[in-house]
Amino acid sequence: MEEFLRQGPATARDISRALSVPEKEVFRHLDHIFRSAAGRGSRLLISPWRCKGCGFTFASRSKLAKPSRCPSCKEERFEPAAFSIG
Ligand SMILES: [Zn+2]
Repeated sequence: MEEFLRQGPATARDISRALSVPEKEVFRHLDHIFRSAAGRGSRLLISPWRCKGCGFTFASRSKLAKPSRCPSCKEERFEPAAFSIG
């Protein structure tokens, strides 16, 4: 998965499809990469989840998985977060 992320930003769905891994597993792996990459001189770059209702971005969100609801407007649809390793 790390090799895939080095090729450019991908959403969890992209990763899920490309690697035939369930999205839930993708987030588990991403969380691991997020916590371990720094020690190896690279880092997980995150383009955060964004609310389709008001544009609120989950920039400070420490969890990587999809938010359940926008805290600002209660919308439940989001532009997906994209991940890469830089
Ligand atoms: Zn919103």
